[in-house]
Amino acid sequence: MKYSIVAKDDGLTRSIKRKIIENIEGDYDEANPDIVFTVGGDGTVLDAVRKYIHLLEEVKFITINTGNVGFYTEFLPEDVNDIINKRCNMDNIISYPLIEFSVDGKLNYALNEVVFSVTHHLFEGKIKVDGTDLMDVRSDGVIISTPSGSTAYNKSLKGAVVDRGLELIQLIVIAPFETAKGRVISPLILNKNREVIIKPLSNYFDVSFDRNFITYQSVENISVRLSNKKVNFLKNNTQNFPKRLKEKFI
Ligand code: NAP
Ligand code: MN
Repeated sequence: MKYSIVAKDDGLTRSIKRKIIENIEGDYDEANPDIVFTVGGDGTVLDAVRKYIHLLEEVKFITINTGNVGFYTEFLPEDVNDIINKRCNMDNIISYPLIEFSVDGKLNYALNEVVFSVTHHLFEGKIKVDGTDLMDVRSDGVIISTPSGSTAYNKSLKGAVVDRGLELIQLIVIAPFETAKGRVISPLILNKNREVIIKPLSNYFDVSFDRNFITYQSVENISVRLSNKKVNFLKNNTQNFPKRLKEKFI
């Protein structure tokens, strides 16, 4: 087994990382791991997925929570001994789909969401769904989330929290500036086969995806859809989605 670790930088996290390295059977292989341990919170999971985005089909993620929220994290620090001593069924996997988006043909992925926005000005653009001109937007931006990203930024914008296993994308127009001539439908939940096309009219804008962003100028076309690419997490059967909702939010 070849493994790698993506971790935050604090005392507890460092001690767990050391424990894994000193006790796990296998070779540390940062470039080509079969297993990636994440030690941290959801932010650390997002970083690890970004780092191994080219290896998602081969890699299983074992996620240990030393963060604050932990919707992606399946295990706690006290579970590390069981993992090291192989008391976990390595075939027990839960998979979350990514979103894929392309900006003028350049393809990229996100696990939580992709956001198109401008600071100081309105983000203006035309949104098409499967070839239908659906709406013209003037707003702070447009966010499109995965089901697993629904508990992050999407939730702050009053988007629906989505259960695991549903294959859909959720689009929200952020702070729409609506007039009689320009109305929007938002939030909008679309099935996994739909393609959203955004034609930005703003000269420059940011594309944020998970913890990253790129500023673009003069873009013709953006397309967004649910990807066939998935992230595979080792699952902890004592955890489930309703339990996590209750623990973290209610
Ligand atoms: P970050 O600090 O890692 O993330 C911000 C917070 O969101 C952290 O507390 C993180 O949990 C939590 N989080 C991340 N993914 C989640 C999920 N799927 N469900 C529930 N909570 C989740 O990173 P950042 O660079 O600041 O931003 C990355 C993320 O922040 C984006 O993907 C976006 O969803 C979110 N964001 C939210 C708002 C908002 O709510 N107004 C605005 C911008 C961005 P941990 O503490 O466990 O890491
Ligand atoms: Mn942050």
